Formats: sequence, C-alpha cells, structure tokens
Amino acid sequence: MTKKEAEAQVRSITRTCKGPYVDDEVPKAIGLLLNASLHKAAERLANVGRKGCGGDFNNVIALGPLDGEERAYKCPKCGVEGTYRAPNFGVLTE
Ligand SMILES: [Zn+2]
Repeated sequence: MTKKEAEAQVRSITRTCKGPYVDDEVPKAIGLLLNASLHKAAERLANVGRKGCGGDFNNVIALGPLDGEERAYKCPKCGVEGTYRAPNFGVLTE
C-alpha cells in the first residue's frame, strides 16, 4: 500500500474534533457515571458536554506515523489535547 492509499483510507471515515468540555464539571460527572456502570449515559454526556470545534481530526492522524502506536495529539484548531491509537497499515511505499 502506498502512503497516499493509506491516507485515503484514513479519510474515508469522517472524524471531527468535539472541542473542549463546556466546564470542569463534565469530566467529573462522566467519571461518576462510569463508576456507576452507566456507560451509555457517560457516552452521551461525553458527546453533548463539549463546546464543539469541527476541526478535521483526520489531518492529525494522516500526518502522523500510521504504525498502530498510541500517540498524544493537540487539536490545531481548538487546542484540546488527548491520545489516540494510530491505524497500522504496515510498511508503506511512496
Ligand atoms: Zn478541536
């Protein structure tokens, strides 16, 4: 697979940044919900409790090595930070 083909596969799924949490209470509430095994509610709050951003996260993935490793990222649009696992496409040709 070429690097260009791998990038096309990454971009075949839309991944947009949800932005930072609306306030510091949201991640605390998500933690409490997870501790109570309320995973669906935690997932919903994790989605609605964000300010929104819309930055194309595929730009971050496609620019980094596609080696299956976990990496730290910072959204270039809103500055939110986190980690993601890069997809692994094996050895890429030019
Ligand atoms: Zn963002």
